[in-house]
Order: sequence, then C-alpha cells, then structure tokens
Amino acid sequence: MSLNFDDVSRTHIVRNVFALLEDYYANPERRQVAKDWDMREIKQYAQQIEFSQSNPSDAVLRHVIEGLDQYAVHTPHPNYFGLFNPRSNFASILADLITAVYNPQLAAWSHAPFANEIERFVIEAFGKRIGYAETVDGTFCTGGAEANLTAILCALNQAFPNFNESGLSALDGQPMIFCSSESHHSIHKAAMTTGLGTKAVQSIPVDKNFQMDLVLLKQQIVQDLENGNIPLMVIGTAGTTGLGAVDDLKSINDIAKDYQMWFHIDAAYGGAIATSQQYKSVVSGIELGDSVTIDLHKWFSVPMGASIFLTKNRKILHQTFSVKTAYMPKDGDVDQVVDPYVHSIQWSRRFIGLKIYLPLAIHGWQGYEQTINRQVEIAQLLRDKLLSNGWIIRNNTLMPIICFTRPEFQDQEMVEIVNEINASGKAWLSVYPIDGKPTARVCITNYLTDEAALDHLVEVLEAYSLQTI
Ligand SMILES: *Cc1c(COP(=O)(O)O)cnc(C)c1O
Repeated sequence: MSLNFDDVSRTHIVRNVFALLEDYYANPERRQVAKDWDMREIKQYAQQIEFSQSNPSDAVLRHVIEGLDQYAVHTPHPNYFGLFNPRSNFASILADLITAVYNPQLAAWSHAPFANEIERFVIEAFGKRIGYAETVDGTFCTGGAEANLTAILCALNQAFPNFNESGLSALDGQPMIFCSSESHHSIHKAAMTTGLGTKAVQSIPVDKNFQMDLVLLKQQIVQDLENGNIPLMVIGTAGTTGLGAVDDLKSINDIAKDYQMWFHIDAAYGGAIATSQQYKSVVSGIELGDSVTIDLHKWFSVPMGASIFLTKNRKILHQTFSVKTAYMPKDGDVDQVVDPYVHSIQWSRRFIGLKIYLPLAIHGWQGYEQTINRQVEIAQLLRDKLLSNGWIIRNNTLMPIICFTRPEFQDQEMVEIVNEINASGKAWLSVYPIDGKPTARVCITNYLTDEAALDHLVEVLEAYSLQTI
C-alpha cells in the first residue's frame, strides 16, 4: 500500500471536498451556532472508523466534515459573539492550503528563502504600522501564548546575559513579572514553563476602568525590591481578554524605565486596532514597549495558529534562541539573513506568515482598516440597542467587546440565560464576571456580522430574559 492518490482520484476528491466546504463557508448560518452536546454520541462518532483496515476516502472525508459540522461551535457563524475566534478570511485559507502543498521548511533561511523574506517583509510592515520608529525584529508564533513566552525569555536573557548557560539557579534573587489582574493567564503558564513559577507573577489589581492600578504597581515593585526580588518585566495589556481594557501604556513605560525592566505589551487581541488610522489612539503607547504580542488568528481573521512577536531590540531574539549545531545549514553567518530556528522557540516550522501576507497583499491595510472600523461602529450600535432595551453596560471600551446585564438580575440569572441561549443554537456568547457578578459578554469577531445579526441577538436576549423574570 502506498500513501499516493493518482491524479484522477485527486481531481474527484478535490471537487467533492470543495463542494462540501463551500456549502459550509457560504452558509454557516444554516447551522445552529452551537448545541447541547451528548458526550457519548460524540466519542462514539469519533471512534467509528477503524485503522486496522483501509477505508474509502469519500466515506472518510464525509465522516470528518460531517463531524465538524455536527459537533462544533461554529465560529464562522454571524451569530457567534464569543471569544476571539474568527471566521477565517478567504485569502488566508488559500494561504494555508498553498503552504500545505509546498510545505516550505522555515527552520533555515536557505531551505525557503522566499518564504523567509516574505515573513521579514511582513514583520517590518507591522513594525512600521504600529509606530515603531527605530528598528524592528520579530518572529511568527503559533499564538499569543507562544509570543508571550518568547517575551519572558527575551526579558530573562536581556537582564541576565548568562541565563541560557547558567539557568535560573545561578540568579541571586527571584525575577518578578508585573501584570494586571485582568491580564491573560498565558503569562502564568509561561512563568510555569520557564521555571520561574507562578509566584514570580505579581497580579496588580485594576482600577475602576479595569486598567492596572499604577500606584499599586509602584508599591509592589518597591516591596519586591525590599524582599530581595528582582523586578524583571512589566506586561501591559492592550485589549484585555474579558473586557477589552487597555492599560495606561505610556505611564507603565515610564515605570518600566525607572526600574530598568523589560516592557512587554500583550496586544494579542487589541493590536489589530493599532492598524486603523481612525482608532489607533485606543492603544496609544503600543509603540513604546520593548516588545509586543499581536495575534493574527483573532481580529485579523486568519486560521489558527498565527501570532506575531515584535521587538525593537535587534539582538535579543538571536541572543535568546541561538544554538550551534553541526547538522543545520549555516546561513546565520551571512549578513542580513535570519535563520528562524536560532531566532525563535520553534524549529521545523510552518510558513505562518503567508496567512497574513496574502490578505494584506490582496486587500491592503485598507481592507483590514475598513473591517475593523466597521466592527467598532456596529458594536456602538449594539450598545445603543442594549441600553434602550433596559440593559446596563459594565465595561467601557471602544473595542467591540460588550459586557452587560440587567439591574434586576440576581446572582446567577445572567449565567443561566447565556447557557440557555447557547444551548438553543440561536446565538453564542460568553459570561464574564465583574466584581464577582456575572455579565453577558458579546464580542463581534466575525467580519460578516451585520445589523440584522445584532437585532437578532437583542431579540433572543429579550426573549430568554423575559422567561426568567
Ligand atoms: C487570546 C489571548 C492570549 C493567548 O493567545 P493565544 O493565541 O490563544 O495563544 C494572550 N493574551 C491575550 C490578551 C489574549 O486575548
């Protein structure tokens, strides 16, 4: 047996698979956005096809596509108001497909020079777009978690030039990371995986605008110094995951400089708004950080997993990730050429950059700008609709994230309503607690979501809340 398909079967398969995919991509709204799962049924379905024999490809492909169709929250659906998961834009789907076929190896420059240079070009374009005045360096990552981990490793190597050789045990104090209590838990996970431990993460409480409280930040730094700890880095968030809040990046930058700390900005979600001329002031100061995380598989609507780590420090990625091997090609010695495997966490790596290059090349920055502006604007429309229907909005951001409830709701009422709506398949939204009280959280992540979808959402909310009052 071989793994090959002849050209006749390939043509047949591609035609069939593309017809099924096109039906989904063109009409996600014909599905329920989500439903109540029967775990046993799904497990059984997933184990239905045996590997002890070969199986007809048509049947297997139908099985997989049917499984995804039946048993998934449909993030490309216009009534998906959930986490940051996008509907993938078409150009970026093509990019993933082209990448899978050519399968360029992005470990070494010399194996895929064109792909590598496309990635450099995109990194530089992003640096300019978000306002890096000086030099820019960076790398593509699988997601914000990897990009934030990269930032922490860079901060460690910047502060302790012997870090890679001697490790944490050679340090004469505990390095500390400061971030707000609303920041993403990938920071805690990175602290775990670097060996710093979660005790290294100081979660600074937020003020009434859900921004890191800077008085408490300074107090905590002083306290840590008194305890013999080493202030390593401060991580500001530009667009918190729950509420879309943006820390005061300019003031945090001043504090970071005062204490010689690395300043990383986690803009996994909110970084996209920096590319809109009209709304970039929402994240002003994003250009001040030593480094920044910007996810592509959130607001830039590319398939997972794709994120960008950018830094102003031209040397730090090389210092942090360089290793010498006998068997890898030695392109790194050549001036101006970057070998990703000595410049990032991953080794063998997919051509991630094409997923953003292709939509940018086809639609231009203006394509994204129009999309982002429109999402910001229809979120405002939704706020107005909610307010005029007696809902109260608990967060305050221009980003399309809206957390709301009703004044008369007790304890878990909002949670129950959201659960019922999600199980009904009429819309999908999440719950986010503010000061211990649950709110419904709606995020407009789909570039196809329009006013009709918003009216539908408000109607559904009204119907389900009337049932419980
Ligand atoms: C989503 C998110 C992350 C994690 O990014 P992944 O792409 O899921 O790995 C980190 N920080 C913030 C602020 C996020 O919203």
